[in-house]
Amino acid sequence: MVPPDVAFERFLREKHARGEKDYRHISGRIAVEDLPTKHFYRSIADWANHQLSDIGVNSTGGVVLPPLHFELVEVNNHFAGAHTFEADERGFIVMTKPMLDEMLRLSRLLVDRNPVFMTQQIAPAASAREISELILLMQFGFVMSHEYSHLVRQHLKDQPPHAEALGESLCQAQELDADGYGIYHNLAYFFEGGGRTLASRWLKLSSAKALENSILSCFLLAGMTQFCARWAGNMRLDADIRAEHPPHPLRIEYTLLFVEMWCREVGSISTTWMTDGTIKDYFNAAARLFPSDLKAGWHQLVTWLKSPRSQQYLAEIRRSIHRLRTGEDEATQL
Ligand SMILES: [Zn+2]
Repeated sequence: MVPPDVAFERFLREKHARGEKDYRHISGRIAVEDLPTKHFYRSIADWANHQLSDIGVNSTGGVVLPPLHFELVEVNNHFAGAHTFEADERGFIVMTKPMLDEMLRLSRLLVDRNPVFMTQQIAPAASAREISELILLMQFGFVMSHEYSHLVRQHLKDQPPHAEALGESLCQAQELDADGYGIYHNLAYFFEGGGRTLASRWLKLSSAKALENSILSCFLLAGMTQFCARWAGNMRLDADIRAEHPPHPLRIEYTLLFVEMWCREVGSISTTWMTDGTIKDYFNAAARLFPSDLKAGWHQLVTWLKSPRSQQYLAEIRRSIHRLRTGEDEATQL
């Protein structure tokens, strides 16, 4: 088997030669192995590849995956995004440099703008840099595990599961399915796996309860920041079932539902945060990181989603995500 970096460059050259527009903006991989060991780009890419090399059947739910590999890539525009694809008997997850740079900037800004909250609620003994590192890793984890879930949940197959039953809503249901599966994966990592060790080291918290509360807060803030970053500058005012992605506020809403479900069913963690005003405060903290001209239309989209005009669309999404997650049709309400 050729080394993954060689396979990636070959894949990219072929895509460029054929003029495929999906990959036109990617100019090449960043050779992180040539950077100093502690360099941010190198350490995050090493972390990602370590996670991807360490995936057992528990995580894939029995699905057999090819070897997986992460690449950080340069782009010839400012596109902040991630992709996943299979090539040369491997699965690749790539993230563009502007997206990673944006995560770094936003995680620091979030901590700097909310010093009292960070000291009193998150970690009294940790530095701003340490808290922001945890939030950054969570943001990165959101995107990585979302892309990984597209592979595990077989969304890239020629005949993806439930495609016929879902019809036009397939794409958007797959996006929410990837969010949900990724969130479960991430929460297990930060509450029960290696992420808990990192969080306790960075946050300097010795009580298990305090650590779990802070992990959950950072996780919710990281998720909202990540979705607000994708939403900022996006002027879409209503939803179309045929669009590739569901509207961002809907992704935030489903994210909260997935986190709440995990806390209740897996983590045995209190879910009072869903109803006690926490969510609104966290959303506002994330939204404040973006200038108002990038948020024009946010209010209108949320209003549309709450109006009777969106009900049919929302019901269709709900039906589709239920089918994708459970393999069953929603029970008819009698
Ligand atoms: Zn996706």
